[in-house]
Amino acid sequence: MAVIDQPDATVVVMVPFPAQGHLNQLLHLSRLFATYNLPIHVLTTTIHNRQATTRIPLSTTNITFHHHATPHFTSPPPDPNANTKFPTQLIPAFESAMHLRQPFNDLISSVAPKAKRVVVIYDYLMGKVVQDVVLHDNVEAYMFSCCSAFASFWYHYEAKKTPKLDSELELLLKDVPTNDGCYSMEGWQFIVSTDVSQMKFSSGTILDASRVIEGKYIDLIEQEDYQGDQKLYALGPFNPVEITHDSSHKRHQLFDWLEKQSPNSVLYVSFGTTTSMDKKEIQEIALGLEKSDQRFLWVLRDADKGDIFEGENRKIELPKGFQERVGERGLVVGDWVPQLEILGHPSTGGFMSHCGWNSCMESMTMGVPVAAWPMHSDQPRNAMLITKVLNVGLYVRDWTQRDEFVTSTKVEEVVRRLMASKEGEEIRNRAAELGAKVRQSVTDGGITRMELDSFVAHVTR
Ligand code: UDP
Repeated sequence: MAVIDQPDATVVVMVPFPAQGHLNQLLHLSRLFATYNLPIHVLTTTIHNRQATTRIPLSTTNITFHHHATPHFTSPPPDPNANTKFPTQLIPAFESAMHLRQPFNDLISSVAPKAKRVVVIYDYLMGKVVQDVVLHDNVEAYMFSCCSAFASFWYHYEAKKTPKLDSELELLLKDVPTNDGCYSMEGWQFIVSTDVSQMKFSSGTILDASRVIEGKYIDLIEQEDYQGDQKLYALGPFNPVEITHDSSHKRHQLFDWLEKQSPNSVLYVSFGTTTSMDKKEIQEIALGLEKSDQRFLWVLRDADKGDIFEGENRKIELPKGFQERVGERGLVVGDWVPQLEILGHPSTGGFMSHCGWNSCMESMTMGVPVAAWPMHSDQPRNAMLITKVLNVGLYVRDWTQRDEFVTSTKVEEVVRRLMASKEGEEIRNRAAELGAKVRQSVTDGGITRMELDSFVAHVTR
């Protein structure tokens, strides 16, 4: 539904990067801004985002989508020698999104003359699309960085070698994953080519990060990069903290099974939308889950189910007789699932995850501990935050030990430790405590809510 922009109002224009994880965060942020009655426009590419936007229920009339057909590009072949699963499919999505510059300028020219102020919030990979904001007096831009403050801090440190590290950070430094290990060659060139330092025209940066979780790292970034006019806003979690089932959507059948399980007994297993496991890895996970004797809900989609690896010829093959042997103890689901609702369900007691930042924030919000299996980009650093800094998870694939291949024995061991041991119970209790603090922080008077109020007051001044 179209929004009728009120004259003299502040209008928000969101420019997400067209990949599910990036997009989810800005859609959730749009939902938050809509609660302040701000009209919001979201600019996206048709080919990449039609499915992505329909996956997040947004029951508000304040948001207008502008989908633009942009050219289609094909992926470079994956680098067979890369020690990473960086999804090279992101590169054609990016090339295609760069064609949004003209549609963006057209949109701004249509809304800016009628608005008091236009606030552009753009994914850090989309700086080239929005660079013409400088041509308008009443348009200001804020960069959105989709990573954790922890990962952002170490990216900064890797590039500048400042600030001087305290003893705690010194200790972490020896294990912090470096860029070399987290990206393929094409992947790293792609990130560099986006020129992420477009601070010239940016009035500040927004993070999907919470001071309750990462206060120390948010402060460090602020001290390093935000001493002038630009400001840093930590407005996370963007995702909802209270789960209400959207009655316009049919409830997923998996909840019939989840409802029957005892509290905290189920391990939810899902690796996001940019990573596909190969046949051997799937076999090892299956055998590990089987041997662990724990209950699990495993999301395992074929390649044709519309994730970023669309076009790959991947068909899921589980070990022979796996489902019969596991029986009622496990459920394998082959389609899109409402992850936040699963994490918020009382039966869910653990999350085996690739540590994409949305997944991390969602599990911390819901107080669910993580079995971390990072694959690429910021995920190894997020996994370190979860396991070594916050102690709300355990490594399955320990990047700091250069774990290359995860065996079923390792999967079994970590699942048992997390789901059925004293150590796991302590980790779960810590995760629950953190979750309670995070949820409190977004209620009236909470630290995140106040920061959001202050951002909105600033842009509507
Ligand atoms: N997601 C979901 N259902 C699925 C798979 C993913 O709701 O079946 C959501 C998940 O809740 C998260 C996002 O998709 O918000 C994935 O983002 P994340 O940063 O965790 O990983 P990415 O997919 O970007 O690697």
